[in-house]
Amino acid sequence: MAELEPLREDWERALCIVAHPDDMEFGAAAAVARWTGQGKQIGYCMVTSGEAGIDGMHPEQCRAVREQEQIDSARLVGVHQVEFLRQPDGILEYGVPMRRLLAEVVRRHRPEIVITGNFRDTFGGTALNQADHIAVGRAVLDAVRDAGNRWIFPEQLQGLLEPWGGVRQVWAAGSPESRHAVDIGDTFDDGVASLEAHRAYIEGLGWEHFDAGEFLEGFARQTGQRFGSALAAPFEVFPLGWGSED
Ligand SMILES: [Zn+2]
Repeated sequence: MAELEPLREDWERALCIVAHPDDMEFGAAAAVARWTGQGKQIGYCMVTSGEAGIDGMHPEQCRAVREQEQIDSARLVGVHQVEFLRQPDGILEYGVPMRRLLAEVVRRHRPEIVITGNFRDTFGGTALNQADHIAVGRAVLDAVRDAGNRWIFPEQLQGLLEPWGGVRQVWAAGSPESRHAVDIGDTFDDGVASLEAHRAYIEGLGWEHFDAGEFLEGFARQTGQRFGSALAAPFEVFPLGWGSED
């Protein structure tokens, strides 16, 4: 029996909330391409614009470059709705202000699935995670429940917004605790293209001979072996509305 279980696909709307432009593309974008290909509606919400991500470029200039790269990248996997909350890159804090921001986004989008990045302390072994990823992931888990409670952040509900308690699961892409996965064999190339769209960022990393395809294939093959397909993407599932057995 395969070690990783298949993710559920009986849903219509998902919202991806991550800290930075490029967070979705380092592993999850091919899965997004699969789901948009099935006709599902997926939106992206970037908490920062990754403006502190390129050493040789001032944040003011970098913000515009990275937002455009993210919009282009998203389009390649069938995502046409990308929003930026423009919180300060690199110094995000988990807490009530962040939960308030994210609850408002969840109330507007009304998704069934919310996808974020890995927010465990590491990516496995000693590969340390980054502070913004951890802050955002923790706040996402809280905000999806806040969104459903009309007495939490009630000032958001004065106009057209309603509480939204319809989020059934939160998925953390690339978590070392992943016990679920999805086959990305058919959309792997779209995922590679979407990472390549972050041209200025990748150049700025200064990794010599970085090959997006090779990089992504390594992880996808490893996950595939544990899932029973050639290429797969891993997710940690936090159940909310479907019950813990899922
Ligand atoms: Zn990131």
